[in-house]
Amino acid sequence: MKNQTALIHDARHAPQYIDSLQPPVYRASTIVFKGTAQLFNRHWTDRYDYSYGTHGTPTTYTLADQIARLDGGDYCLLAPSGLSAINLVNSTFLKSGDEVWLPDNAYGPNAEHLEFLQNHYGIIPKVYDPLDVSSFAPSDRCRLIWLEAAGSVTLEFPDLQGLIKKAQAHGILTAIDHTWGASLAFSPFAIGDEALAVDIAVHALTKYPSGGGDVLMGSVVTKDKALHTKLLLTHARQGISISGDDCATVYRSLPSMSMRYDKQSATCLELLEFLKNKPQFSQVLHPAMTDNASYQFWQQNCPTAKSAGLVSVILDKHYSWADVCRFVDALQLFKIGFSWGGATSLVMLYDIKKMRKLANNHLADGYLVRFCIGLEDACDLMADIEQALKVLKLDEKTD
Ligand SMILES: *Cc1c(COP(=O)(O)O)cnc(C)c1O
Repeated sequence: MKNQTALIHDARHAPQYIDSLQPPVYRASTIVFKGTAQLFNRHWTDRYDYSYGTHGTPTTYTLADQIARLDGGDYCLLAPSGLSAINLVNSTFLKSGDEVWLPDNAYGPNAEHLEFLQNHYGIIPKVYDPLDVSSFAPSDRCRLIWLEAAGSVTLEFPDLQGLIKKAQAHGILTAIDHTWGASLAFSPFAIGDEALAVDIAVHALTKYPSGGGDVLMGSVVTKDKALHTKLLLTHARQGISISGDDCATVYRSLPSMSMRYDKQSATCLELLEFLKNKPQFSQVLHPAMTDNASYQFWQQNCPTAKSAGLVSVILDKHYSWADVCRFVDALQLFKIGFSWGGATSLVMLYDIKKMRKLANNHLADGYLVRFCIGLEDACDLMADIEQALKVLKLDEKTD
């Protein structure tokens, strides 16, 4: 055998009976069949009939099974980002003329994707107030409602039970984006004291499951096999696929996730009191704030009193956008960037009322800054905010 051939055909199989703590990583586009009988008798919807890299390998299935278990569901599909997982749900279940409802505080790119589907395919998106079930008024054409707990940026915890019950009474599919809860604050398939279940649970694994700020991934979990099969078909038709290496990275982080979540949550709670007492901030947004309209819903649905490490503040309305930028630029430990769930604390700023369709009277006027708490010491984070606040002159604030 020539060296060129031997490089390809020799020693490509791991010795049998070796056992490592992490499962081996399969990197595959091609899957090799043992013969034509195996080739022609397979069916790609059966995961053990390995067929082609896009349809899955033992590595992707290993992670998918862990995510299904974490979420308390039975079936899981992985997507290359959280947004891709959201899009998988939208494009599987919505067709021309269908109505879909989205909370006003939904993850922004979900609303943008639905706008795209509206322009290109005639889907009809509608917006509801997550704290007011009566604002969700589905027509006969409604097919799907999105839930998000807690909502993006302003972090209202919705009336989950009220919304799910209303959707179920109308025969409408329920899909939750539970990236914030991460199946640690609440379980998407056993919500509240009546153990209500959503139909579809979407999780941006980019956040807490990855925990490193270095991998993008999303998951779609169901308990119902028929729903899963529909999603699986779209997954295949659209060529959605992820790398084995990315799966292995997330898989390795999963065992430490609940410890990281608890630590980040605890640091965030420690910051709440501190932020509340700063005269430069007119409002602190976090589900555990008792003056927050969503407090009762958070208590009802998250009996373990867990919350993610996210907190937003609204700056006094007298501060200009340039002031807010100066404050954010003055932060040292908080890095300016999107996403969250990693070891490094992050900060982002928003002109929030411009991003919303409804009145949102519960939000104070002023620009919003969101802090994503990492794994640093709480004292250092508070000291960082304290020093950065020096750029905001108090005498500019005249009440
Ligand atoms: C980050 C995020 C997503 C999207 O995840 P990506 O992997 O960044 O695409 C979706 N929903 C929520 C609530 C998120 O925070």
